[in-house]
Amino acid sequence: MIDFTDIIDKKKNKLELSKDEIFYAVNSYTNGEIPDYQMSALLMAILLNGMNNDEVFYLTEVMMQSGDMLDLSRFNGMVVDKHSTGGIGDKTTIILGPILAALGCKVAKISGRGLGITGGTADKLESIEGYNISLKLDEFLKQIEDIGISLSYNIGDLAPADKKIYALRDVTATVDSIPLIASSIMSKKIASGADAIVLDVKVGKGAFMKDIDEARKLAKLMIEIGKYFKKKVRAVLTNMDIPLGHNIGNKIEVMECVDVLEGKGEENLKEVTITLASNLLSMVTKKTIEECRLLVIDSLNNGSALAKFKELVQAQGGNLDSIYDNHDKKITLRASMSGYLTDIDSQLIGQSSMEIKVGRETKDEPIDYDAGIIILKSINDYVNKGDAIAEVYYKEGNNIEQAVAYIGEALKITPNEVEEPKLIYEVIE
Ligand code: URA
Repeated sequence: MIDFTDIIDKKKNKLELSKDEIFYAVNSYTNGEIPDYQMSALLMAILLNGMNNDEVFYLTEVMMQSGDMLDLSRFNGMVVDKHSTGGIGDKTTIILGPILAALGCKVAKISGRGLGITGGTADKLESIEGYNISLKLDEFLKQIEDIGISLSYNIGDLAPADKKIYALRDVTATVDSIPLIASSIMSKKIASGADAIVLDVKVGKGAFMKDIDEARKLAKLMIEIGKYFKKKVRAVLTNMDIPLGHNIGNKIEVMECVDVLEGKGEENLKEVTITLASNLLSMVTKKTIEECRLLVIDSLNNGSALAKFKELVQAQGGNLDSIYDNHDKKITLRASMSGYLTDIDSQLIGQSSMEIKVGRETKDEPIDYDAGIIILKSINDYVNKGDAIAEVYYKEGNNIEQAVAYIGEALKITPNEVEEPKLIYEVIE
């Protein structure tokens, strides 16, 4: 008979937990036998004293097995998935999914809603009028069979143990533990059934991970978990000091995705998307990364990725034209001096976007799909005093003064240019 207090005590004393103990702890907490206060103590002991790889594998396994496990074996090893640790203006899924489906992969993507300053793909897609984000499992699978892609929300009941534990971590200051984060993310990813997974681990001001060494540790641990479960996993460490692309919002981010799919768009957004897509394609084909990169770029230039995106939106009932209807008020921000734009602080842009309800503070809060920020310039662009540098879409009643103040603080204009920021730090296999 395992005693929960003994498990807490073991971890408090930096001892290794056995598979049975980890399975017992998670299962008994999930089914309500163990109260929050005991699980909280265990989570804090894990946060303080860590876990070795075996413990992390068992924790991932028990959370993964707590709910549905999608069986996508009918798609013959071609199913791809991605996860981003979250950033400002991060809309790569909406571009990368259609690219990969156009190139013959099967994109079975279950996305979340946003919480806090990082937006969620599900919210962005829902800003397209009529887009049905909540397909039933059989509809999700049929659509992947028919057109190679579905971008949906809440398919099946994936890793409910993680859901319950994550909610507890959120209120007990135990989120920022690498073993807990890695097992939480990977339990859901592996339960989603993909053959190959690319992890976009964001580093910088607007990211969850501010420090590259910590981000690398997290990436390596998630890759080890992938290996343990015989999945192909790669991680790309990418810069989140400035937002990805020009647009931060919901509808306006979808608009920018269409721009990129039309072969236009901001370089940093294009480059991160192309890197992630090429890595996924090379994991499920025998092609080299260079060959995959050319194919990915070609799918943007020849319109096949855009056509696939339109097919996806239509299949899920959306009216793509609706993203161009914006009913919010618009305010234009102008440069207060001449010089080079040398910073677009993503953390401050994220905070600004929250003031105008691009995202939500708490789980069930409504958001404004029309709201958003468009940064009209790129790093090292020269601006003259009085030039338009940003536009903000907002509804009356929101704190537009504070939103504008954050943007003013985020955009730095200096007499000299800066070194071009590094975008892709490294790819870890
Ligand atoms: N995202 C997750 O899904 N889990 C974590 O623990 C942190 C971020």
